[in-house]
Amino acid sequence: MSTGAQWRGRRVTVAGLGVSGIPAAKVLYGLGAVVTVVNDGDDERSRAQASELEQWVAAREAAGDGPGGSITVRLGDGATLPVGTELIVTAPGWQPEKPLFLAAAEAGVDIWGDVELAWRLRGLNGRKAAPWLAVTGTNGKTTTVRMLAAILEAAGLRTAAVGNIGVSLLDAVLGDEAAEGGSESGEYGDYDVLAVELSSYQLHWAPSVRAHSAAVLNLAPDHIDWHGSMAAYAADKGRIYEGNTVACVYNAADAATEDLVRGADVEEGCRAIGFTLGTPGPSQLGVVDGILVDRAFVENRQQQAQELAEVADVNPPAPHNIANALAAAALARAFGVPAAAVRDGLRAFRPDPHRIEKVADVEGVAYVDDSKATNTHAAEASLAAYDPIVWIAGGLAKGATFDELVAASAPRLRGAVLMGADRALILEALRRHAPDVPVVTLDRTDTGAMAAAVQEAARLARPGDTVLLAPACASMDMFVNYNKRGEAFADAVRALAAQRA
Ligand code: ADP
Repeated sequence: MSTGAQWRGRRVTVAGLGVSGIPAAKVLYGLGAVVTVVNDGDDERSRAQASELEQWVAAREAAGDGPGGSITVRLGDGATLPVGTELIVTAPGWQPEKPLFLAAAEAGVDIWGDVELAWRLRGLNGRKAAPWLAVTGTNGKTTTVRMLAAILEAAGLRTAAVGNIGVSLLDAVLGDEAAEGGSESGEYGDYDVLAVELSSYQLHWAPSVRAHSAAVLNLAPDHIDWHGSMAAYAADKGRIYEGNTVACVYNAADAATEDLVRGADVEEGCRAIGFTLGTPGPSQLGVVDGILVDRAFVENRQQQAQELAEVADVNPPAPHNIANALAAAALARAFGVPAAAVRDGLRAFRPDPHRIEKVADVEGVAYVDDSKATNTHAAEASLAAYDPIVWIAGGLAKGATFDELVAASAPRLRGAVLMGADRALILEALRRHAPDVPVVTLDRTDTGAMAAAVQEAARLARPGDTVLLAPACASMDMFVNYNKRGEAFADAVRALAAQRA
């Protein structure tokens, strides 16, 4: 909780222009802080962003709306600590080892991410401070947070899916209030509860965030370069449980998530709640005969279970997605949401694009776009959902190895089509663990390769098969991002359908 007054004249350095830095700078300016934005890059994009920000400030000053703060942007030097800095607010992706942070540590300057800033500004000037239901994990965060928001909405609560999902927590907590110099509209910040997606980077820079309840969906190696080790990555993820008041939700099939709950310092009375695709034990949510059931938030959990929804209410009803639905349901139930709202929310939920999205059936073959499967853990989950599969994969491996994924999926593979910079790594794993599976390797990394991949996949597939784009790799060697990769796949499938019609 905080009042605006303590920010007047405070010297704050914002590290990084961009999706988190710009809103942070605006909010701090609105509170009267003296803001310096530092940015490594001095390219065309950052210059345009800087000048937009400066014009935004100038317009406020000209309108006599200036709250007494200022914003200075320093491009091309993200390493030097500006003189007099009292606090750094950093973009989540900035690595802890950066010289700026080492200098800050030496000078005793605190470093917060934008999530920490949002947390500290909750309840600013007497606004209602909505509790946070928080979700992290290597995969499934966005889906789970959207499911959770849909369930909360179905319960009639005012809520929003925010955070790493692409909606700034600062906007959710404050709206335009601080940035506009204190409007009294009351339009924002009046949520009953927020469904918050947090990445491991965001958690690293959010030391005092205390969620009402939180879930870690799963834990597999990812972003190890940034964190320095798997242990450090897990520790940052585990921060999400710190100070939880009602429930720490873990994945009963992933012991590492339960370990994180055990290691957390929570409020008295906070419970560990598991989710499982099997029959739930006491204090768990799980699945019995095609029904999602709750054996945690019922009066007598030794003997009672509450039906929540049918597996068929989950969209799509792939195993990993049922796990996501159970995690969302657990958080909603921890917040006191009735069972019927879980069902209604899950029915209302629509997955974001490129996450196991059925594009078309062509000659009895289903074409499914899971371009968002950008790591091996995600791809393994989506490959587990179909049988038999013609698998389209490849891209940038980010240091991953493919043996485990290929060994687990081999029995379901009708064939594979590989492309992208690190295709050879996947090919080698296929040779080792699935020597009989026919593989087509496309020796090209241009965007047109996707159309060729779909043609090859169609050739390998038989009626009843699924052609699944689950690249297990990042897209940036061939595409701007995973969205563009998914769109290229969908375009190619539609072209194929037209050709065969
Ligand atoms: P995130 O926000 O964590 O990246 P998304 O919900 O966007 O997660 O899903 C990303 C991809 O991860 C999906 O396309 C799917 O391949 C995979 N995935 C989703 N949920 C899970 C899960 N619970 N376990 C493993 N993989 C998952």
